[in-house]
Amino acid sequence: ESKKRVALIIGVTGIVGNAIADTLPSSDTPGGPWKVYGVARRPEPEWFADSPVEYIRCDVLNKEETSSKLSPLEDVTHLFWMTWANRQSEEENCQVNALMFRNVLDVLMQHARNLEHIVLQTGSKHYIGPFSYMGQFKSHDPPFFEEMPRLPVPNFYYNLEDILFETVKQKQGLTWSVHRPDVIFGFSPTSMMNIVGTMAVYASICREKGLAFVFPGNKLAWEYLMDASDSQLIAEQEIWASVDPKGKNEAFNIANGDVFKWKKLWSLLARKYDLEVPPYSGEPVSLQELMKDKGPVWDEIVKKHNLVPTRLDEVATWWFADAWLNPTTEYVLSMNKSKDRGFFGYRDSEKSCLSCIDKMKEKKIIP
Ligand code: NDP
Repeated sequence: ESKKRVALIIGVTGIVGNAIADTLPSSDTPGGPWKVYGVARRPEPEWFADSPVEYIRCDVLNKEETSSKLSPLEDVTHLFWMTWANRQSEEENCQVNALMFRNVLDVLMQHARNLEHIVLQTGSKHYIGPFSYMGQFKSHDPPFFEEMPRLPVPNFYYNLEDILFETVKQKQGLTWSVHRPDVIFGFSPTSMMNIVGTMAVYASICREKGLAFVFPGNKLAWEYLMDASDSQLIAEQEIWASVDPKGKNEAFNIANGDVFKWKKLWSLLARKYDLEVPPYSGEPVSLQELMKDKGPVWDEIVKKHNLVPTRLDEVATWWFADAWLNPTTEYVLSMNKSKDRGFFGYRDSEKSCLSCIDKMKEKKIIP
């Protein structure tokens, strides 16, 4: 048990990838201190530069590049799959995401002889279907349980799981875990889906321009009990599963373990930005539409507050907020299986949301 664990995080600057990268190198992390390699396509961002992770620029959709950059990493013992590609249709998502996963697995299966465990992160769309199919078929009734059968629609999560199961069969002793978060509360200025970051950017634009801080979602989003998944908590469960025998070879939901209402969270966000909450009209408003010409306003805010330079379309993912805040069902994940197996982590969702904002402020991403 004294052998050094070596992680390869694909998507190291993502919303959970960077939380794992933050946690693994400390000596009090289970199985730690770990040696960590982290992969993303962009040059290493300024906000990530003080991390002890060995940063590797690589596009894992490119087979040759993946092979040349990852084959020297012969000491990898654990793979953390923290990335995805978002295309026009779910059929394309199935193809492209499968290709990315296969490219990396092919290299590791050939060169990383000590590979022990693969962590695959997917999400609650396992139970409600991909965005492009939502509302077009009957999804499961919440709360969602891990053993619910797959839905009769394409979903790249299913393709990734099948590739995972096929791969672990090829090497004796190689274990796996699948982790399914709900909407993630976390830190990443370049995440493709960041609800808290998007709301904080929206609030700063409203404050800057004196606009009403209108809740953009539908009535269900305003009134339903919802759950969320703190990125650091997800990281904890993923690390737990990769070292604890009770977490191996299973799929787990991962949510904070409480419920919240946007109605209340909205007033907390407003208070953080000294904004008033206008009465809720009952009708959704598209943020993608409302914010489409606000790029220059964001540039002014960045300059005025001396922030790390970012583009509005990186720090705010309006399409995602529009999709997530117009639910057709409640989103609640059962955490029973995870607790039965011995993972008891939890977070207070309201505090989690506000602490993400504090971290973004501290790193000078938002005012
Ligand atoms: P993010 O968008 O936060 O991060 C993606 C990471 O992958 C970034 O580091 C990105 O950096 C990197 N990346 C993207 N494409 C490539 C590529 N071709 N080669 C190498 N690196 C790449 O991801 P999430 O954590 O949000 O997504 C991971 C999984 O979690 C997905 O399956 C998603 O559906 C699921 N999920 C996410 C939720 C959320 O709220 N965000 C909610 C529930 C589930 P760079 O762009 O520089 O390459």
